[in-house]
Amino acid sequence: MSERVRTAIRVEGIVQGVGFRPFVYALASRLGLGGLVGNDADGVFAEVEGPPAAVKEFLAALTAEAPPLARIDRVTTAAMTPDGGESFVIAASVPGGQRRALVSADSATCADCLAELADPADRRSGYPFINCTNCGPRFTIVRDVPYDRPFTTMAGFAMCEPCAAEYHDPADRRFHAQPTCCPACGPRLALTGHDGQELPGDPLAGAAALLRQGKVLAVKGLGGYHLAVDAASQDAAAALRARKHREDKPFAVMAADLAAARQLCEVHEAAAGLLTSQRRPVVLLPRRSGAPVADAVAPGNRQLGVMLPYTPLHHLLLAAVARPIVLTSGNVSDEPIAYRDEDALARLADIADAFLTHDRPIHIRTDDSVVREFRGREMLLRRSRGYVPEPVRVRPAFPRPVLACGAELKNTFCLAKDDHAVVSHHIGDLENAETLASFTEGIEHFRRLFGIEPEVVAYDLHPDYLSTKYALELAGVDLTGVQHHHAHIAACLADNGEDGPVIGVAFDGTGYGTDGTLWGGEFLLAGLAGFERAGHLVPVPMPGGAAAIRQPWRMAAAYLAAAFPGGQPDGLAVARRNERHWPAVLSLASAGVSAPLSSSAGRLFDAAAALLGVRDAINYEGQAAIELEQLAAPAQTGGYRARIDPRDPFLARGSDLIAAAAGDLAAGVPPPVIAARFHHGVAALIEDGCLLLADRHGLGTVALSGGVFQNLLLLTEVTARLEARGFRVLVHSRVPCNDGGISLGQAVVAAARDRSA
Ligand code: ZN
Ligand code: ZN
Ligand code: FE
Repeated sequence: MSERVRTAIRVEGIVQGVGFRPFVYALASRLGLGGLVGNDADGVFAEVEGPPAAVKEFLAALTAEAPPLARIDRVTTAAMTPDGGESFVIAASVPGGQRRALVSADSATCADCLAELADPADRRSGYPFINCTNCGPRFTIVRDVPYDRPFTTMAGFAMCEPCAAEYHDPADRRFHAQPTCCPACGPRLALTGHDGQELPGDPLAGAAALLRQGKVLAVKGLGGYHLAVDAASQDAAAALRARKHREDKPFAVMAADLAAARQLCEVHEAAAGLLTSQRRPVVLLPRRSGAPVADAVAPGNRQLGVMLPYTPLHHLLLAAVARPIVLTSGNVSDEPIAYRDEDALARLADIADAFLTHDRPIHIRTDDSVVREFRGREMLLRRSRGYVPEPVRVRPAFPRPVLACGAELKNTFCLAKDDHAVVSHHIGDLENAETLASFTEGIEHFRRLFGIEPEVVAYDLHPDYLSTKYALELAGVDLTGVQHHHAHIAACLADNGEDGPVIGVAFDGTGYGTDGTLWGGEFLLAGLAGFERAGHLVPVPMPGGAAAIRQPWRMAAAYLAAAFPGGQPDGLAVARRNERHWPAVLSLASAGVSAPLSSSAGRLFDAAAALLGVRDAINYEGQAAIELEQLAAPAQTGGYRARIDPRDPFLARGSDLIAAAAGDLAAGVPPPVIAARFHHGVAALIEDGCLLLADRHGLGTVALSGGVFQNLLLLTEVTARLEARGFRVLVHSRVPCNDGGISLGQAVVAAARDRSA
């Protein structure tokens, strides 16, 4: 008998629920190898036996030909004694043990399933829950690991005979596809009125007809309920806004396919790749003039958030409606998106005219992800459905398991162990009991799912954040507070696989400083373990505290007072519009009474926006700055100049930009030109600050983070200026620059401190 070897193999990474075992089975069969393959809590284990050359070929093909949704992090092998077995079998799953196997993210319907969906002869023709090992729901239906049907929300659906045959056939595309089902055995679609009573007729045709009549439809999706209307109907979109109490914040639109998306927006190659990826995020795109989209969908915005269908139900619905639809989160105002059927019915009954729903439970609320393309690279703005829970690989490894609790707005948390940082789905603003429950339950769920028992817990320094309070109540762990802007810069470093030191420019709305004041226009000298505040915007009073965030005109008053200490110029429109409260607000600012000082860059943008008449009060976070960016004349170059007081830390005079803008306004310069000059002025201020610090400290790399860098005009200009000066510039890609990225930053800071302790 010729020589035989037997090798034990362990594969780690995203290898469960992605067709890995049938792939291994097929590969071993092709090469005539004996052995076995199975799932356990660590991933996939296998043993292969046969001639050495064939085993070697098997190992090469294992990574080279892995299934599309798999992500292999590590393959380890060990020699065994051959037992002469020639057959290859799939072993039963091994439950329990230490849990490190990675659950994959939800994935858009694959081409094979779409072909079956459209094939009248297929037994799943037109079935809205078709899926296979290469696509379908994952994270949103998983209750526990290992990833097997009894641990998913499909547990209640017993497979019919044909489905069971496919499920058990290693040669079938649905081999061990946990959510596999068909019209005979799987979930069922229903159309109900807003009272929950089922409506007669075909649910899909009925739903499409309602949309075409301009009605508001609630649609149960992968991670929660959406609200849908005809995107071209001004009346329907306006009614949805009124009922949702969402005045201005843009709605996302779903288009049937790439061609339909191209009628709405300019879709270049990189953006097309994002739109059609299996992750199917909402992609922010430049809107085409004359696009068939009602004004109420994204009022006053040159951009539109567009996504393509990602479930079979979406594909069927879009085909039936035959036009783009608004698809926005199913909630009222700022509440979390509804995902449980009874709760959705209760909360959305006053908004939706009807519900297109089904009986497959959603285990965890997961919002749509939002991305844009920046310099050919994906840039996440909200990382959630389709991305989570795929871990961010981090090197060096975490010495001990870490829980990072994140910030307050756009909260995410992060559980990290070894070289994996699992950043949670978008939890939302931790301002109400329901979101807080999502946060605490989410942490428990992730701990179980990934078998991570945190020994180190990182939190924001802001004593009033609910995430901070949660951390401080935990017992038996080492607690470590991380300054907000340090966390932003650390997140940017981790995002780029770097560890500094860098010049960190953290521009955002607000964050608690180490001196107890509110920071937000920060230049840091930062590594992972620590930082030094090397410069910042001159702090300006926020008259009325939180009221100044909701009413940008108050920031205009405070900044004008700083810009013109001898008295403001006459005839300012912003003062006239707010004349009743203007003097009182000015005196709050000058007396420093209920007017906390803040170096926030977000408040500087607010002041400019109000000065230019863009907006005196906002309806959602960041609105004034977003609209100021929209106002700016894109072709305009040249800008204002802010002086820098070169003490240490240096002080950058944001009020110089407001003084220049007020001067131009008085001289009759058009507001779009002023808005552009202001943006260029902020960019020049960042350039000057970085040059000063490079000169002082000899650093050549700049990391940009904080929510202000969601402003594409500013980001583009700052990056170009810094690169022209020879700096290497790090920007975000895999996690958001806004507070959604804070938890990752906190986690890597905690780990760096742990290593140096
Ligand atoms: Zn499929
Ligand atoms: Zn079936
Ligand atoms: Fe922030």
